[in-house]
Amino acid sequence: MLIVQKYGGTSVGDLERIRAVSQRVIQSAKQGNKLVIVVSAMSGVTNELIDYANFFSKNPNGKDMDMLLSSGERVTAALLSIALNEQGFKAVSFSGRKAGITTDEVFTKARIKFIDTQAIKQELNQGKIVVIAGFQGVSEQGDVTTLGRGGSDLSAVAVAGALEADLCEIYTDVDGVYTTDPRIEPKARKLDKISYEEMLELASLGAKVLQNRSVELAKKLNVNLVTRSSFNHNEGTIITKENNMEQALVSGIALDKNQARITLRKIKDKPGIAAEIFSTLANENINVDMIIQNIGLDGATNLGFTVPENELDLAKNAMQKILDDEAVIESDRAVVKVSVVGVGMKSHSGVAATAFKALADESINIGMISTSEIKISMIVQEKYGELAVRALHEAYELDKK
Ligand code: ADP
Ligand code: ASP
Ligand code: MG
Repeated sequence: MLIVQKYGGTSVGDLERIRAVSQRVIQSAKQGNKLVIVVSAMSGVTNELIDYANFFSKNPNGKDMDMLLSSGERVTAALLSIALNEQGFKAVSFSGRKAGITTDEVFTKARIKFIDTQAIKQELNQGKIVVIAGFQGVSEQGDVTTLGRGGSDLSAVAVAGALEADLCEIYTDVDGVYTTDPRIEPKARKLDKISYEEMLELASLGAKVLQNRSVELAKKLNVNLVTRSSFNHNEGTIITKENNMEQALVSGIALDKNQARITLRKIKDKPGIAAEIFSTLANENINVDMIIQNIGLDGATNLGFTVPENELDLAKNAMQKILDDEAVIESDRAVVKVSVVGVGMKSHSGVAATAFKALADESINIGMISTSEIKISMIVQEKYGELAVRALHEAYELDKK
């Protein structure tokens, strides 16, 4: 079999862990598999590099950031390859560029345009294990780019898709995908299977066990995806095409802490104002999420929306440029988004009411609400985020099968 294995930050968190990973890789190679390994930076390294940059600037330019951040994964790739070679297994380490991963130029969250797998295939054909630095590619202008936080998952899925690998295994520090983050709710239950659709929703709403764009791509390219622990040999979670495996109404609860809320007060209540605001944000590549517009009074209105917390300053600056002097821009970083996800919701009513009641029973105020066919999201105060997750987990009895 041709297998792409991806090891996340904790899995390669120190030199002993890299050795342990090398042994897991060797075990799979001995079973006759052809292997491409994608690695993350050692845990904490990416954050540390960001702190380094912030020592000099609160708003460093993306090109420099990607030059900086891509270094973390290269260290791990090189070390793993060295460890494998030392144990008598031929391996070679690749940067994103060498792996043929070409992206657009949206620095710090670039999108993959195409992958030229020639170099990877050449090494595989010579019986080598190819170790690729995750999270990065190269633009057509030759600049290093990175794929957004958690982007090594995307590297792995993209490479697996391009190589038409038999399997893509995402190794992490939990046994698989749970009904919610097991670090928040110890009663969370591991799912044996989950549909691409539900996993995509969970990942997009903050369950960082898989990066959302990696799930999107896996679905598109039909990649056989499994997440499992690199710390034991337990069976993981299979991400499949089949829907609603357990016929569950709700399959999981997600928490997204990377949220901030902007409120624009006293803006002009006239046609085109929303278009102007949101196209300005889109031009800055800011992902706006929930939007609330109040009913206008005396020609003025208020508009609230959420953005990723790390894009708040950028968003506020953009608003300052286009709004007139009367408008007031307020923001709040201390908010989080809790979401209830399940394809079973499509055909049931009353799911939302259960969520609202669960939070009300804990006296948690809901700031904003948005719903789709398969999810309900609510903005709450940050300090109540984890309590809200546990309350919802309990309300939908997710600990029980
Ligand atoms: P890696 O460094 O291996 O990429 P991440 O930290 O990105 O690992 O993702 C794994 C973490 O995701 C877990 O440690 C867990 O705390 C968190 N997590 C959030 N939601 C879930 C969920 N529904 N199921 C499993 N893990 C989750
Ligand atoms: N090292 C990067 C991050 O921390 C990418 C990854 O781990 O997937 O976001
Ligand atoms: Mg991750």
